[in-house]
Amino acid sequence: MTRPFRVAVVGAGPAGIYAGNILRTRAADAGIDARIDLFESLPAPYGLIRYGVAPDHPRIKGIVTSLHEMLAEGSVRLIGNVEVGADITVDELQSLYHAVIFAMGAQRDAVVDIPGLDLPGSFGAADFVSWYDGHPDVPRHWPLDAKRIAVLGNGNVALDVARVLAKHPADLLSTDIPENVYEGLASSPVEDVHVFGRRGPEDIKFTPIELRELGEVAGVDIELYHDDFDRPGADAETGERRAAGNQAKVLARILQSWRERGSTGAPRRLHLHFWHKPVALLGEEAVTGIRFERTEPDGRGGIRGTGEFLDYDVQAVYRAIGYRGTPVRDVPFDDAVGVIPNDGGRVLDGGGPVLGLYTTGWIKRGPVGLSGHTLGDAGETTEKLLEDHETLADAVRPGEEAVLDFLESRGVRYTTWEGWLALDAHERALGDGFPGDVVRERVKVVARDEQVAISHREVIVR
Ligand code: NAP
Repeated sequence: MTRPFRVAVVGAGPAGIYAGNILRTRAADAGIDARIDLFESLPAPYGLIRYGVAPDHPRIKGIVTSLHEMLAEGSVRLIGNVEVGADITVDELQSLYHAVIFAMGAQRDAVVDIPGLDLPGSFGAADFVSWYDGHPDVPRHWPLDAKRIAVLGNGNVALDVARVLAKHPADLLSTDIPENVYEGLASSPVEDVHVFGRRGPEDIKFTPIELRELGEVAGVDIELYHDDFDRPGADAETGERRAAGNQAKVLARILQSWRERGSTGAPRRLHLHFWHKPVALLGEEAVTGIRFERTEPDGRGGIRGTGEFLDYDVQAVYRAIGYRGTPVRDVPFDDAVGVIPNDGGRVLDGGGPVLGLYTTGWIKRGPVGLSGHTLGDAGETTEKLLEDHETLADAVRPGEEAVLDFLESRGVRYTTWEGWLALDAHERALGDGFPGDVVRERVKVVARDEQVAISHREVIVR
């Protein structure tokens, strides 16, 4: 065995955990004694799985089981409630580790320039998702007072947002939603949720399972509009559509079945519109409507405006048009794309790779895809890191305890894996002890200090 090879991974979502786990295995195979610390800005691990996946998606939340096993194995040490770039700088991290891997994901809404976006009633999907998933850093109260709502975008986040808005809240009770979220959704007067795509039904980025389940939401009718289908030129299949193959056919079949199904008179409706490009949010003091230009295929796989404008009377607009990453202080960042510039995972500045800095996941390649892609990314990044291993400078302050001493000296109340186990047990106990007939898997604790206090066993599990 050689000297301990110390690596900090920043971000305890799937990207960071996969990277830590793959690095551990590959390093061991290569006879390298890797010591890996996983830093997380939140008190609890799992990133996007805990704070990005909709509560009624247990299939995807199930990924937590394998992430849990990877951390429970013990070779990757969790250090939570630490903001890299604020509680500890990247320079300070580099004095403690041979290498740092950034895996913070993408948590902000993509930027778009549409007049009226600043009006009350205009929301980014990222914030709403954080609210319904009980993220500690967003306000507890969400204004749910609109009867008619527009959701922009034709990706899975738009589906999540539209489904959570339209769903009858009692159907969410068996999930892990926090109390304030249940109460907020229960007070919503919503009747119509309209989802708008700027391109056609062949161009949707929904995935089949997620689209199909939209049609299975109790007490909600799906409405489609015939003039959004069979638009002139839309049958000129582009290479992209042909490449989509079977998935595109399944999506088309789902939409077709809904066109044939018709309304049942359900109290809530979810409308899917296509060929609608948003041009302005309307209203003086708050959103009262939204204006679209109808679009059509431009014959080259894109779209062009038709000059026909349509206004919809809505009181809230949610943008689900993609995420983007957030820069970390002192780390190169490509602001145009919202990622850390890199070559196969090696962080680049203007002059080439920055020794000892690496990246993986959405902050490396942009916010597309979930676990499969992220696993591939982690493989590539760890390979580069191990190639560089001999050339990386030794840590100035080595030793397992050095980083913990440093954080304590700064007064940072970091959390640990044992702390997470305590919080996890606490949340499950809250779910078990919930009055009524519904079995609740857990009730998430939202407030950051409360999560930290429970992790530090300052609150007794009932
Ligand atoms: P996405 O799949 O990239 O979809 C973004 C949507 O926004 C597209 O329909 C895009 O239209 C539209 N858009 C972009 N800019 C726009 C503009 N200026 N005006 C109007 N529309 C605009 O992104 P996402 O929904 O944020 O999802 C991110 C990733 O997470 C995806 O890989 C997704 O599958 C995954 N995810 C999966 C699940 C799940 O349950 N499986 C849940 C959530 C997220 P164009 O196509 O025309 O660009």
